Amino acid sequence: RSLEQVLKDGIRDIPDYPQAGVIFKDITPLLADNSGFAQVVEALAATGTDDDGRPVVDKVVGIEARGFILAAPVALALGAGFVPVRKKGKLPAATYEESYALEYGEATIEVHQDAFAPGDRVLIIDDVLATGGTIEACLRLIRRFEAEVHGTTVLLELSFLPGRERLSGEQLTALVTV
Ligand code: IMP
Repeated sequence: RSLEQVLKDGIRDIPDYPQAGVIFKDITPLLADNSGFAQVVEALAATGTDDDGRPVVDKVVGIEARGFILAAPVALALGAGFVPVRKKGKLPAATYEESYALEYGEATIEVHQDAFAPGDRVLIIDDVLATGGTIEACLRLIRRFEAEVHGTTVLLELSFLPGRERLSGEQLTALVTV
């Protein structure tokens, strides 16, 4: 199967979740598809390599919660470490935090203060790019360190939302755009 077909088979639309009028992209069928999941992890990991396919990142960041599921196997595939970026109040040691606006209210994400060493090259992974607020806040978090963001990769980009514009100037890859 092509990667395109794997993604088409594995991502379904759930209307009116989490609220009326929203069509939620659900990746659980993809996760349950062993060969499809493996193909997707390989494609995500390729965005953390150079032209010769050699890994070029030291840390892979996963954003809670679906980002964890994708970023952890990508980190192993690249011989890199995994770093969780979590919703406020979930990480046990000292953290940095960044807040961002939601449609109603605000959200805050955190990372441990010792998550990156100076000079670490970092790949950020998440499942869906919607408005871009989450990834923008994640980039602000990582910029507090003397680390270098290699790029951000998502499974799925929703092109009817202004995520890509918001992240202009960043290295952003989506495996599929709808
Ligand atoms: P953003 O901050 O608006 O770009 O929203 C992105 C965050 O919300 C990501 O962490 C996604 O996991 C989640 N998200 C937004 N829309 C969807 C969706 O349709 N399916 C799955 N996750 C979504």
